[in-house]
Amino acid sequence: MRLLLVEDEKKVSDLVARALRAERYAVDVAEDGPQGWGLAESYSYDLIILDLMLPGFSGTELLKRIRRKNQEVPILVLTARDATEEKVHNFEAGADDYLTKPFAFAELLMRVKALLRRGPVARSSVLRVADLEVDRLTQQVRRAGRRIDLTPKEYALLEYLAANPGRVLSRTMIIEHVWDQSFEGLTNIVDVYVRHLRAKVDDPFPVKLIRTVRGVGYGLNDEPAP
Ligand code: CA
Repeated sequence: MRLLLVEDEKKVSDLVARALRAERYAVDVAEDGPQGWGLAESYSYDLIILDLMLPGFSGTELLKRIRRKNQEVPILVLTARDATEEKVHNFEAGADDYLTKPFAFAELLMRVKALLRRGPVARSSVLRVADLEVDRLTQQVRRAGRRIDLTPKEYALLEYLAANPGRVLSRTMIIEHVWDQSFEGLTNIVDVYVRHLRAKVDDPFPVKLIRTVRGVGYGLNDEPAP
């Protein structure tokens, strides 16, 4: 396993690199954005550990550059910042995990191992069914390129349908996935939400995607009927 560590604080990078090598990983170390990019571009790494505050250009910029070229390599971001907004931003840019400094080495190692166990990530966050696009990361929905605004429950229902194109999902299955175990309402809540979804996702468009199978449940057509 070959790892790339991009970290400008020499004390941290020495310590982390030494400890990772003791675990028999091969570790390349870069000290700034451009050097990290040079290595990431040249070699095929099994994992990249990336500090956010770097000279040259930032870890976030480096993360974006790497992701434009390589969707699959797992990336663990190290940072002194623990603002939620920053984390969200970096997850959206393609980070797989996050560790806030100062961290215990044992935790870093655990996360590195967990990411390596998962292996290369199939990263497309977008579910596509016909001309419908559901982005699981940003939770944005588009149909024929047009943005559709949904409530959180409408979104969750559509995401579940879109993750199972062509399948008919029963009301019980839908409730189990979209609501939770504490939900004790009537199963016709599903019908109500499907109606809301249809109004937004199907009604404005000539081709209808949401299918009702009487007595069974609902599904999304992956091959829309004309
Ligand atoms: Ca730094």
